[in-house]
Amino acid sequence: MLDRIRVVLVNTSHPGNIGGTARAMKNMGLSRLVLVEPEDFPSSEAVARASGATDILDSAVVVQTLEEALTGCSLVLGTSARDRRIPWPLLDPRECATTSLQHVEQGGEVALVFGREYAGLTNEELQRCQFHVHIPSNPDFSSLNLATAVQVLAYEVRMAWLAAEGRPTKVEKLETTAMLNSMPVTADELERFYAHLEQTLVDIGFLDPEKPRHLMSRLRRLYGRSGVSKLEMNILRGILTETQKVARGVSYKRSDEDV
Ligand code: SAH
Repeated sequence: MLDRIRVVLVNTSHPGNIGGTARAMKNMGLSRLVLVEPEDFPSSEAVARASGATDILDSAVVVQTLEEALTGCSLVLGTSARDRRIPWPLLDPRECATTSLQHVEQGGEVALVFGREYAGLTNEELQRCQFHVHIPSNPDFSSLNLATAVQVLAYEVRMAWLAAEGRPTKVEKLETTAMLNSMPVTADELERFYAHLEQTLVDIGFLDPEKPRHLMSRLRRLYGRSGVSKLEMNILRGILTETQKVARGVSYKRSDEDV
């Protein structure tokens, strides 16, 4: 799907920005780069800034006009550093990504068009686009570096694509821990913990079973308030078990004794 979304750079002056764009695209899974009249390309500076995304540079298509760059595209989105340059349907990067994804899902081809470092896109070029996209930057300093602007849109496209594919946005290992961490402890697990805690406090002499006062009810209130997860409960139970061992005179580091 992502191979039906092309990035078009118009009249780029700095080859470093072309390299930065290739890197940003490859990071986010985009592969089709079209360059309209680049001032300096191919170039070693572009290769250096691409940091290994040279396949994107090698397969980049260089054309002379924006019209050629847009061949076959049924949705064209033009980016602009200024939000109300000409009154036109305006999208933010997130809306741009979902609109683009919907379009490719229906079999269409999409172009994301980026302008010159110093002058952006001309009004004529902007009028070739169905939508304008503005990254909601600081109005007093609204213009992003070209490759950075590509990165923002490419990231949103990736997020929309992951959502459309039902793929996770987090790596699985982290997810397992995160799941365990977010699963709340059950009432019976809590009761077993309170019994363990009480016994440990007795073992270390902190709680006198003859004069318990309100210690356990205060501790119940404390733990009840903190919304302990299963993972955290495992840690607490582990601490109690080791504390009991030390209280009973069993060395914490058994292996040291064994030597
Ligand atoms: N002086 C130019 C700035 C161009 S920055 C101008 O005022 O238009 C180079 C390119 O980066 C822009 O043409 C656009 O494609 C992209 N860009 C930079 N900042 C952006 C922003 N806030 N929103 C959308 N695109 C932006």
